[in-house]
Amino acid sequence: MPRPSANAPCPCGSGTKAKGCCLPVLLGAAPATPEALMRSRYTAYASGDTGHLIRTTHPDSPHREADVRAWAEELRRYCAAVRFLGLTVDTSGEDGDTGRVRFYARMALDGRDVSFGEDSRFRRVDGRWLYVDGARRTPDGPPRA
Ligand SMILES: [Zn+2]
Repeated sequence: MPRPSANAPCPCGSGTKAKGCCLPVLLGAAPATPEALMRSRYTAYASGDTGHLIRTTHPDSPHREADVRAWAEELRRYCAAVRFLGLTVDTSGEDGDTGRVRFYARMALDGRDVSFGEDSRFRRVDGRWLYVDGARRTPDGPPRA
């Protein structure tokens, strides 16, 4: 599975090396917060780690697809086509096993700006934060998991 370089700046834009940020989560560590999961998912998109995207999508998420193989292929094509230019987390928080992250993702597709903002919802299951869904703050972004 593709991974970010351990000593390179983390693709999520945290300002730290990937090995001290999203890489452990991509390798299987439980993310401590909804924001940590959200950042790891952005990094997974940026590095084409479709397995992480699928594993961290909540079973009840509307983004989940029954045909996992087709879903993985759709994600792979999406990750390959889009340039991931940066992530800004505006706010994040958790209340029990429910989490929220408000972020802005800068991205380009075929030279076109497809950046978007989203208020994402997360739920913790067996100690692991999972992505449920989100509300876009800009109308026409690309499809994603
Ligand atoms: Zn990171």
